[in-house]
Amino acid sequence: MGLVAHKVKNVDIAVIGGGPTGLSACLELAKHPGIKVALFESESELGGMPRSCHVFFGMRDMKRIYSGPVYAHKLSSAVRETGIDIHTNATVTQIVPDPTGGDHIVKVVTEDGLIQCECKYVLLATGCFEQSREARRIPGTRPAGIFTTGSLQQIVNLQKVKPGNKALILGSEHVSLSAAITLHRAGTKIAGMISDDPFLQTYLFAAKGISTVLGFPIYRGATIETIFGKKRVEGVKVMLKETRKVFEVECDTIVCTGKFRPDASLIYKTGIREDSASMGPEIDINFMTNLQGVFAAGNVLRGADMHDLCALEGRIVAKNMLKEMHTIDKKGLNSMYIRIRGTDPIRYVVPQNLVPERMKGWKTSLWTPGVSMQVHRTLTDVVLEAWSGDTKIWSRKYRRLIANTRVPLPIERFDWDKVDLSKGITLKAFSHRNVYTQGRI
Ligand SMILES: Cc1cc2nc3c(=O)[nH]c(=O)nc-3n(C[C@H](O)[C@H](O)[C@H](O)COP(=O)(O)OP(=O)(O)OC[C@H]3O[C@@H](n4cnc5c(N)ncnc54)[C@H](O)[C@@H]3O)c2cc1C
Repeated sequence: MGLVAHKVKNVDIAVIGGGPTGLSACLELAKHPGIKVALFESESELGGMPRSCHVFFGMRDMKRIYSGPVYAHKLSSAVRETGIDIHTNATVTQIVPDPTGGDHIVKVVTEDGLIQCECKYVLLATGCFEQSREARRIPGTRPAGIFTTGSLQQIVNLQKVKPGNKALILGSEHVSLSAAITLHRAGTKIAGMISDDPFLQTYLFAAKGISTVLGFPIYRGATIETIFGKKRVEGVKVMLKETRKVFEVECDTIVCTGKFRPDASLIYKTGIREDSASMGPEIDINFMTNLQGVFAAGNVLRGADMHDLCALEGRIVAKNMLKEMHTIDKKGLNSMYIRIRGTDPIRYVVPQNLVPERMKGWKTSLWTPGVSMQVHRTLTDVVLEAWSGDTKIWSRKYRRLIANTRVPLPIERFDWDKVDLSKGITLKAFSHRNVYTQGRI
């Protein structure tokens, strides 16, 4: 495949990423036939992550339950029936935003050569990924047989390949249970699950149920001390963090699950502001970044939320883009906004920039996207508080906050009259029961 000269394309909106977020945005935009939209997806098929996932897709956006592949197919076919200019096998390699209000440029590598897409609006919907073994800095040799859930699902569900004979799962998030089911379906035995958090990062009853049915132990408060094996993984040394007791687990496969991070490398060196907490682009309540006309939605904002909330976010961001198109006074992120941030153990809060006068009438629900946060580690008996300077403006008790899982924030309940715009809002989480729980379940 030889790359040929640039083809220049002029559209109103370039959508980057054909997962639930990008596709749902396209469906909303397609209701306005006068608007020219181009969609770029680096894979050969549209659909994003659900293409290789299992069940329980579509509840909040389609009001029906489908398998991941059926859900992805339904969304993609609906978009293919619109007049949207769809490019698959098309990877966006660079965004060159024009901060002065001119056209932004999106550079795309395709099978037919390079495309330079000039547009007034960009939607970044590139999703998220799990942290690899390298990013987790696990010591040991570098043999074959180490996957993330994403790569495991690709080879098992799409390529029908058995990943190995006996696997150890690293992580205890919801997706770790998904990895266990994928391994079981592929005929791979499960040697165990390792959770570095002393509490699991998923529902205890679900983890206990799956581990009992599939017959594997879960080690809490544990970490991999080293991986061994030359060509292929042969086993790992596991250490219980509190007692420092070390034991060996024999396995030829390791699956690194969870620790999701936004796939946001396209924003680097563009002037699009990155939130160091979420590691994704910083956005306002309309999903617009600090650069006029550049929007972002879905899991590129956080890593990771449920697919259906991402899809609903796609619809909302499309409506906001259309609204923005028809607004004459385009200001972007500016002093009208108030910054909200969290302190440890709060991992992030998204969106980061709120508009106080709109927040009083806001309606937070489990069924719609809104302002949400995640914590780093699972906490029990928690008090969550919001402060503006020295003034407490909201607090609520939670029996449990599960790590890396969305916590909707009822911001309409904040005492907005007491908010000091110059000080912003800080969220704090206090856990009053801190029993260390480690060992096998
Ligand atoms: C391994 C894994 C398992 C998951 N399992 C579940 C689950 O079971 N249930 C659930 O609700 N959620 C799950 N999720 C969360 C998942 O991210 C969401 O379900 C949903 O897919 C998010 O939608 P999205 O459109 O924001 O991102 P994605 O679905 O990830 O779509 C992003 C798309 O952007 C494309 N893209 C990325 N970079 C570029 C580029 N530079 N140029 C062009 N295209 C690009 C990608 O190829 C991809 O198709 C999982 C995530 C992962 C990583």
